[in-house]
Amino acid sequence: MRQRIAVVGSGPGGLTFARVLHRHGHPVTVLERDAALDARPQGGTLDLHEGLGQLALDKAGLLAEFQALSRPEGQAMRILDTDGTVLRDWRPRPDDRANPEVDRRQLRDLLLGPLDVQWGRGVTHVVPGTRDGVLVHFADGRQQTFDLVVGADGAWSRVRPAVSSVTPHYTGVTSVETSLDDVDTRHPDLARLIGDGSVAVYGVNRALVAQRNSGGHVKVYVQFRAPLDWHANMDLADAEAARLSLLALFDGWAAPSSTSSTTATPSSTAPSTSCPCPTPGPTSPA
Ligand SMILES: Cc1cc2nc3c(=O)[nH]c(=O)nc-3n(C[C@H](O)[C@H](O)[C@H](O)COP(=O)(O)OP(=O)(O)OC[C@H]3O[C@@H](n4cnc5c(N)ncnc54)[C@H](O)[C@@H]3O)c2cc1C
Repeated sequence: MRQRIAVVGSGPGGLTFARVLHRHGHPVTVLERDAALDARPQGGTLDLHEGLGQLALDKAGLLAEFQALSRPEGQAMRILDTDGTVLRDWRPRPDDRANPEVDRRQLRDLLLGPLDVQWGRGVTHVVPGTRDGVLVHFADGRQQTFDLVVGADGAWSRVRPAVSSVTPHYTGVTSVETSLDDVDTRHPDLARLIGDGSVAVYGVNRALVAQRNSGGHVKVYVQFRAPLDWHANMDLADAEAARLSLLALFDGWAAPSSTSSTTATPSSTAPSTSCPCPTPGPTSPA
């Protein structure tokens, strides 16, 4: 008899798992809270490591397609001191495929392929062990039963409480994502500084990390230690005010280290959280 399998969450984890099942002939339904494929920007680039993310894509039969899309040159990493001194300038060999970068949107499109994704299906909680299987409750009041439910709905998972009492906690570090377009023509000095990969500047309790994505697009992450409500008195929708406030965090840093936060447009803020799971790692609320 066919098993009714649901994966909650269409992030890289959920979609990859669903593709592996699909490859082995198991029908699977992906339940995603976002209203549509393009409901929100997907964020910057992801690096997929040999033996980890690349192994998972291999199991899904997608490794060759990933390699064609990915950017091995994106592994380049430059680290600067706040006075502009170059502390590290590392570039990969041309044949280095250890952890190439890929735009999240491209990875998502690759993974989606033939999958049955149901958009706008935010899960509120799941109840395992009912007579008919695992009962999934949705935000719109609907319910549906499956034989197997896989939680891949991120740090603030609504599935996790069915199997674990752990909850994420704020690490004290917040990251504001900002974007620059057409960087090679509009910001050539910054483009040279970023190179093919990333540049990071680390100060005391603050950092700037700029990542090149495809098509001349750059994400700059402004990271700093702050209380969770650091923006309580700020209108984050006012880009200019947000930019000035972020820039003040980098007083005394040498240009061009701070140039990226001068020019980039803030787009989203992500308090980083960690979960006391067996293999903890930094994540953020969706
Ligand atoms: C600021 C930042 C920068 C990062 N940079 C990098 C990097 O450079 N390289 C790298 O490799 N990794 C990076 N990461 C980590 C990476 O983003 C995560 O490891 C990855 O996204 C985890 O994938 P996931 O599929 O487990 O969860 P997620 O990507 O969080 O996906 C969860 C999905 O579930 C959906 N969802 C959530 N709640 C519900 C619900 N109740 N019902 C239904 N659907 C739901 C969400 O809409 C989302 O689509 C970064 C993370 C952050 C926060």
